[in-house]
Amino acid sequence: MADGTESESRKLLRRLREEMASEAAGQERLDRITHLIADSMASEVCSIYLFRDSETLELCATEGLAPESVHKTRMRMGEGLVGRVAMYSKVINTPDAPSAKGFRYMPETGEERYSSFLGIPIQRLGEKLGVLVVQSREAREFSADEVYALEVVAMVLAEMAELGAFVGEGAALSPLHQQSVVLTGGPAQEGSAEGHVWLHEPRVVVTNPIAEDPHTELERLSEAVEELRVGVDKMLEMSQDGDKEQLQVLEAYRMFANSRGWMRRMEEDISRGLSAEAAVEKEQSQARARMSQVSDPYLRERLADLDDLSNRLLRILTGQGNNIGAELPPDPILVARNIGPGDLLEYGRALKGIVLEEGSVGSHATIVARALAIPLVVHTGRITTEALNGDHILVDGDQGVVHLRPEDTVVGAFRDKMAMQAKAQERYASIRETLTETRDGHRINLVMNAGLMADLPSLESSGAEGVGLFRTELQFLIRNQMPKRQELVAQYARVLDAAKGKRVVFRTLDIGSDKVLPYMKHVAEPNPALGWRAIRVGLDKRGVMRMQLQALIRAANGRPLTIMFPFVAQAEEFHAARFEVDKTIAREKRLGHALPETLDVGAMLETPSLAFAPQKFFDEVGFISVGGNDLKQFFFAADRENELVRRRYDTLNVSFLTFIERIVERCGISGTPLSFCGEDAGRPVEALCLAAMGMRTLSMRPASVGPVKSLLLRSDLGEIRKIISDARHRGEQSVRPAVMEWLRNQT
Ligand code: PEP
Ligand code: MG
Repeated sequence: MADGTESESRKLLRRLREEMASEAAGQERLDRITHLIADSMASEVCSIYLFRDSETLELCATEGLAPESVHKTRMRMGEGLVGRVAMYSKVINTPDAPSAKGFRYMPETGEERYSSFLGIPIQRLGEKLGVLVVQSREAREFSADEVYALEVVAMVLAEMAELGAFVGEGAALSPLHQQSVVLTGGPAQEGSAEGHVWLHEPRVVVTNPIAEDPHTELERLSEAVEELRVGVDKMLEMSQDGDKEQLQVLEAYRMFANSRGWMRRMEEDISRGLSAEAAVEKEQSQARARMSQVSDPYLRERLADLDDLSNRLLRILTGQGNNIGAELPPDPILVARNIGPGDLLEYGRALKGIVLEEGSVGSHATIVARALAIPLVVHTGRITTEALNGDHILVDGDQGVVHLRPEDTVVGAFRDKMAMQAKAQERYASIRETLTETRDGHRINLVMNAGLMADLPSLESSGAEGVGLFRTELQFLIRNQMPKRQELVAQYARVLDAAKGKRVVFRTLDIGSDKVLPYMKHVAEPNPALGWRAIRVGLDKRGVMRMQLQALIRAANGRPLTIMFPFVAQAEEFHAARFEVDKTIAREKRLGHALPETLDVGAMLETPSLAFAPQKFFDEVGFISVGGNDLKQFFFAADRENELVRRRYDTLNVSFLTFIERIVERCGISGTPLSFCGEDAGRPVEALCLAAMGMRTLSMRPASVGPVKSLLLRSDLGEIRKIISDARHRGEQSVRPAVMEWLRNQT
């Protein structure tokens, strides 16, 4: 390949294939490969560096460098030229290595004699495996053709590594997918689970990276691409009257599927000796590497489209990659890069846990996982490349930690923790039917938050006395199109049936801000949280509001009905919405539909402004529920979605509790029923302080009812109130230390 011709390149690949088929053990095979490459590149040195762990590269085989340095020379990711190739997934090609940026001298290797350096990342679908290096004495830059040829070789090495070709006696690599791995991500739904990996999209295994006959491979590629194009065209046809964004994605798919550049690169890979699937994977790997470098969201999206398309093409070529027909393993833990809410609902409660490589705390999949109470960890990175179907896995949704193929000691400790949690659950179950009354005789009403049918069974199992917040937007968010009125009627009726007479507070559509309907025209706003959302959208789009009100009235069908409007910032908004309710009632009456037996219409207090509304508002509104998640973000001016600030201010901050007290007082004057339905209501210590400030109804996640009740039953609100007021007089910022101290002394 010194002359860089295609046939030379194919010759090298053929020799590599013979190597793959040989009986040699891992180390011997690696040694022979470095020899082969150096020989065919006519360069003095060829070395293979592989990752020992995610941070450390080790020289595993070399032709030309000091043999004693093999398995001794190590560098960290980013260290020296080799470390930089790995870190940035980028080729380094320099005629004068010692002067290149980042060079680090490794004396034990004897590399000082070599001037030129070419380093190529060995990677497979975004998984960094190592670095392939050639060096020579002569100060020259390697030609584009040589670089390209070596990239093809690196691709084959990656495939060989994946197939376990370097594992064995004296092996350089420990077998892939066998070591334990600990991944840390973000906790998105609490709880712990032990089970077996179920890959939502199992990895495609390419068993034949090298192909003898480029003509056959070119034909296979062109047939597969044709099938892909037809498929994309069909999808486009079917969604012509669908939503715009989906169309845009499909158009982008079509553009790539017809892209000459993409095709040309893959054809060239094949003519160098790669099989069709290895060629697809090589381009996909490079696109993934680019994806991790670019920050422009548009470009990232397009690279993600290309990635998706490559997956489809690989599936066509290999016939692999769908779980069709395969059985879920026992205690399945779903592992995916990302998953849509619809797909997740299809798995439903069969899953014991979920781990998403990407995902986010506010994503729709997270909303569904929460509704189903399935422990979920998001943002773990690289799990889909590490895990294999059936692998043993532990998911800690409280800490956001995942143990893949864990060691026995870890399993033991994890099971102990799960047993303790199960014991606590038993304790909570034993007080399920007990009414919540504090030691000093205050009756607290514990209700639950819900949003999907899947939540309703929790009404019984948690012991909640009703549904204090039913987030109706979830039904809208998990679909691809606006639900029809009749569908909503059926859904709401089922919710009421399942509640068996317990009160359900239906909150009208709360969209906007972080909750974007995929099928509604998206308006770009500078500050969505302060923008066109919730009741503001409802009042501007009366048709949707009316449709929902009608569906609620028809679903109630003569039963009591409770409706709540979100994000009311001033009394006038509530009046306008209430007026729509009355109009809809009158219309339904005219149409001969049964009217609700009782109708209670309330408002969510989520902006500080409403706490200062005229007394008349408090007299008129049916009830008020404090949406603490939003209220807190506006009270402290700290975005609830922004990791940098969202935990910065304590709910038990004296100012916030004083504000809550003020709301309690105002509602007290008019006798307006008051509840609190933000996440804080489900945190025992916070719940205790809210109750001490006078909140008598708390609405929370079902799993929180037990822990909150257990603490309230043991507490004296009068004492807590005194502790809070003492802390306030001492001028403390938060009452938390004082309350925690008191609680510690109780046990
Ligand atoms: C809140 O803001 O506290 C609330 C309950 O509403 P959501 O979390 O749905 O915005
Ligand atoms: Mg809110």
